[in-house]
Amino acid sequence: MIHFHILTLFPEMVMQGLHTSILKRAVEKEAIAIEAVNIRDYTLDKHGKVDDYTYGGGAGMLMQAQPVYDACKAVEQRIASAQPENPGGEGSCRVIYVTPQGRTFHQAMAQELAREKHLIFLCGHYEGIDERVLEELVTDYVSIGDYVLTGGELPAMVMIDAIARLVPGVLHNHESAATESFSDDLLEYPQYSRPEIWQGRRVPDILLSGNHGEIERWRLEQSLERTKKLRPELYEKWAREHEEYFRKKEKREARERKKQNKQKKAEK
Ligand code: SAM
Repeated sequence: MIHFHILTLFPEMVMQGLHTSILKRAVEKEAIAIEAVNIRDYTLDKHGKVDDYTYGGGAGMLMQAQPVYDACKAVEQRIASAQPENPGGEGSCRVIYVTPQGRTFHQAMAQELAREKHLIFLCGHYEGIDERVLEELVTDYVSIGDYVLTGGELPAMVMIDAIARLVPGVLHNHESAATESFSDDLLEYPQYSRPEIWQGRRVPDILLSGNHGEIERWRLEQSLERTKKLRPELYEKWAREHEEYFRKKEKREARERKKQNKQKKAEK
């Protein structure tokens, strides 16, 4: 079970977004737990203020250090007290600040994070967060892409969705995460469902053959073709790491050519 703790100024946004469909079911099954912590609840300002002007001037407001720090420490303390085998375990939990300045999120990172028991996501807003509290708390700086959003809520939701579906018990058929795009650096092969013919377009015959070995081989070839066309850099990486596959393929094709030539000769 993995616990996601989201530090945010908009808890209702993340809770609504993450409590639908597959993730809602996963929470109900206790495969994952999601809590949103309102940073505003921790401000010492009597008017509930959590942001202020930036020193040195410039446009926009910045989230202040104190409420962010206290909210995060409260979560860390709760995690530590729920783990009596790890007294004072504060700091052992990764604190991810979602920021356009971070490392770009990808599937391998999701796989690595899915092995954690607790993850704290820190969502910035306005111009971001006071640097000093980031230095104090954050273990990972992660971006979801080279563009700037108004807040960290959507990036945190994107990451949590991608991580959660890799946690055992979240997807009905765990296989589907194992064969999907990026799980082995390849894009997934094309897929088809009923009917067999739609608007005159047939499902490839091989998928109706019942020959599982041939279907697997076809799927891998389709994945390779698609990856080569759409993501050549991923294809090159896969090809470098799977030289044996190409050697075997060459041998198989040579054997097939030989067999066909023999057949042709016998037919003459
Ligand atoms: N001033 C910041 C900068 O230039 O790096 C951008 C602040 S942005 C308007 C407000 C918040 O949205 C950030 O603190 C961060 O939490 C979140 N955010 C925006 N774009 C993001 C992205 N591409 N990936 C992850 N988080 C992002």
